[in-house]
Amino acid sequence: MAKKLTRRELMQHSVAAGGLFAAGSLMPVSPALANQASQDGAEITQTDRSPAVLDHDKVVQPRRELPVLKKTGVLVVGGGPAGTAAAFSAKRMGVDVTLVERYGYLGGLATGGLVLGIFPLYDRNNKQVIFGFTEEMMKKLDVMKYGIIDRHKAPVYPTFDAEAMKYILADMTLSSGITAFLDCWGVDAIVDGRGAVRGAVFESKSGRQAILADIVIDCSGDGDIYAAAGAAFEKVKHNIGLISRIGNIEEVDMAPGRGSEGLPREHTFVGKIGTGRPSMGRVSDFNGHAGNSTPAPHVNWLNMAGPVGDALDVENLTELELRHRLGTWNNVEKLQKKPGNEKVYLTETAPQLGVRLSRLLDGAKKLTYAEIQSGAKFKDVIGYSGAYALAPEFQIPYGCLVPSKLENLLAAGRCISAEFKVADITRLIPVCWATGQAAGLAAALCIQDNVKPRNVSVAKLQKLLHEQGAYLG
Ligand SMILES: Cc1cc2nc3c(=O)[nH]c(=O)nc-3n(C[C@H](O)[C@H](O)[C@H](O)COP(=O)(O)OP(=O)(O)OC[C@H]3O[C@@H](n4cnc5c(N)ncnc54)[C@H](O)[C@@H]3O)c2cc1C
Repeated sequence: MAKKLTRRELMQHSVAAGGLFAAGSLMPVSPALANQASQDGAEITQTDRSPAVLDHDKVVQPRRELPVLKKTGVLVVGGGPAGTAAAFSAKRMGVDVTLVERYGYLGGLATGGLVLGIFPLYDRNNKQVIFGFTEEMMKKLDVMKYGIIDRHKAPVYPTFDAEAMKYILADMTLSSGITAFLDCWGVDAIVDGRGAVRGAVFESKSGRQAILADIVIDCSGDGDIYAAAGAAFEKVKHNIGLISRIGNIEEVDMAPGRGSEGLPREHTFVGKIGTGRPSMGRVSDFNGHAGNSTPAPHVNWLNMAGPVGDALDVENLTELELRHRLGTWNNVEKLQKKPGNEKVYLTETAPQLGVRLSRLLDGAKKLTYAEIQSGAKFKDVIGYSGAYALAPEFQIPYGCLVPSKLENLLAAGRCISAEFKVADITRLIPVCWATGQAAGLAAALCIQDNVKPRNVSVAKLQKLLHEQGAYLG
C-alpha cells in the first residue's frame, strides 16, 4: 500500500503541508535544495500505513485491509523441528506448502537454541524407536563432515552440529518446492465468519501481510496462532535456559543413565573425552561446568536448566536473555581457572532463548502421564516416543494434534495437547519431528480428501507414515 511519488511531488506535498525537513533532522530544507533533489529523477516512496492512533490515553489500531502475500494449501507457522518436518512431509504429498519462520534460519531450538542432543530415541531396552523424518535427518547429517556423532551407540544419544543442520534445512527448502518466508513473524490468525481458521497474518520488513490457507499447522512452539484464533489452551511455565558452545575444551561433564535434560541431576561426574560419552545432556548452570562434546573438535555444548519463567512475558524473556549471557560468561571464567582449561573460550551463546514449554493445546485428546506409564495403546496412533527420565516409551495419538473445537488447524511440536509431564517429553526434538511429520501428512490428506483435520482417515495417515518409515509401536 505504498504510494510512489517523484521527489518533486513529495517536496510539493511536504511544502504545502507546512514544512520540509531534512531526513532525520529538524533542519528545514531550503527550496533551492528541494529543487536540486527533485531533478535527480529518483522516486521517493511514501507509505500509507495507517499508524496506530493515540486517542487520549488509549492506543487504537485503525481497521485496514491487508495485502495478501500468498494463497496456499498448507501454511506451516514456525520452522523448528516440528515445522520443517510438517512442511516437507506435506509437500511430498504434492500439495502447495508455505513455511513461515520468524528468524533468518530454520531449525528452531535445534539450531538457534543450540539444542544439539537428539533425546528419547530409544526404548528401555536401548532399541531405537523413532524413525521416519528423524532417521532421514540423521542420515543426512551422517554424510556431513562433523555433522553428527554417536549414531547407533545406544544408550548414548546422537549429537549434531547446528550449522550442519541449518545447511541441510536450507538445502531441503530450496530443493523441495515449498515456499518459505524467513524473518517473518506470525502475529495473528485469520478466521472466517464461522470461526474456522483461514490463514494467518504476518509482520516483516515488508509490513503486515496475510497468507490465506486451507489448513494451518501451528508449529510456533508457543501455540501463537492457535491462541490468536481462539483455541483453548493451558498456559504453563517451565525452566528457561540459554545454551552455549565453548571451544578449546577437552573435558566433558558426564551424566550416565536416563534422566531429564531440564532438571538438575544428582549423579553427575566429570570425565575426559574418550572415556565414554554422557547419555544425557548435562544441565550446567554457571558452576564451571564443561558441557558435552559436539561433532566439532574440542567444542562442547552447555545445556542449561535456568529458572522457571513465563515464556509469554516479554519482560521476563528480556531479563533472562540478559542475565543468562552474563552467567554464561562467568561460567566460562570459572572453567578457565581449572588447570588445563586456561585456553577454553566462549564460542557463542545461542541466538535464541531456551524456552521449553509455554502453551499446551486443549486438544481432541490430552495425553496423560498415567496413560504413558501404563503403556496405553491408541487406535489413532501417529507417533512414538522413546523412554525418557522415569517414563517408558509410548504412543502419541492423533487427537493430541487436533484442537478440541477450532477447525482447519493442527498443532505439532512442543505445543501439542498433553499433560505437563508428558509434554516435557513430547517437546524433545525427535518427538517433535514425529508429530510434525504426522501433522504435515494429515494436512495434505485434508486437502486431498476435502475433509477437516478431525475427520482425516487415520488409517490412511498411518499407512502414509509407515510408507515414510515411521515406527508407531
Ligand atoms: C534449554 C533446552 C534444552 C533442551 N535440550 C534438549 C535436548 O538435549 N534434546 C532434545 O531432544 N530436546 C531438547 N530440548 C527440547 C527441544 O529443543 C525443543 O522442544 C524442540 O526444538 C521443539 O521443537 P518445535 O519445532 O516444537 O519448536 P521450536 O524448536 O521452538 O521451533 C519453533 C519455531 O517457530 C518459530 N516461531 C515461533 N513463534 C513464531 C511466530 N509467531 N511466527 C513465526 N515463527 C515463529 C521459532 O523461531 C522457531 O523456529 C531442549 C529445550 C531447551 C529449551
